[in-house]
Amino acid sequence: MPQLTAIPAFHDNYIWAIYDHKYCVVVDPGQAHPVLDFLHTSNTQLSGILLTHHHADHIGGVNQLLQRHANNYPAAPPPPVIGPADQRIPMLTQIVGEADEVSLGHWNMRFKVLEIPGHTLSHIAFWNESWLFCGDTLFSAGCGRLFEGTPTQMQQSLDKLAALPGEILVCCGHEYTQSNCRFALQVEPDNPYLQQRYLEVNELRQRGEITLPVSLADELSYNPFLRSRQASVIQAARRRNKQAGQTATSPSVLLEEPHQVLAVIRSWKDTA
Ligand code: FE
Ligand code: ZN
Repeated sequence: MPQLTAIPAFHDNYIWAIYDHKYCVVVDPGQAHPVLDFLHTSNTQLSGILLTHHHADHIGGVNQLLQRHANNYPAAPPPPVIGPADQRIPMLTQIVGEADEVSLGHWNMRFKVLEIPGHTLSHIAFWNESWLFCGDTLFSAGCGRLFEGTPTQMQQSLDKLAALPGEILVCCGHEYTQSNCRFALQVEPDNPYLQQRYLEVNELRQRGEITLPVSLADELSYNPFLRSRQASVIQAARRRNKQAGQTATSPSVLLEEPHQVLAVIRSWKDTA
């Protein structure tokens, strides 16, 4: 059975690696050299690349990895590069979209694809019964910035992820958990699951350890961006709007729809 590990890249990115004694598939290799180091120490060869979205910190290492693979294994076929339809990801060999299935040849392992626009418009996730690779859409205790999508799109995308089995491990693209928890505590200061997570995360980070992956069920209990239907989160968004000087007659103040709550929480975090 293949194993999973996170390869650190840049300051706070993770490149997820699925590997056994021979092969290795990586998700979102923004940088080549940490992956090349990992392939060397694990004595594996690159056998596939999954990409969630077009940002450079997620795709920047792909060409160099392909080049190195071609040099090291001239007789082997190039690893497939699988991702969403987007002209900003020119190196794909396989384009996937909603409900498509990806099979990783060597292991008889499959992933299903979800389209999850919000952070970017073409952002996708890969998931199976064990793992969810969600790039920069869902973070532990947070969600991605809305660079291209609307709050409505992000709400729909997060709803899709929230509907997956609770035992799935969320494998996101960045180590943002500690600062996300600090913000989430402003939204839900009395949430005991959040308080507990923050304590754990502080201990992990003090030891320089990763805070991921984390189960989806846990995220549902404290991630404010998965909780825009919870009374406590709605109340926090209303308080925030009031402080921001929105009058009680302004329709957005009612915040009756989850995406409206999400919009307030997201822009609150952008300025926090
Ligand atoms: Fe990123
Ligand atoms: Zn991104």
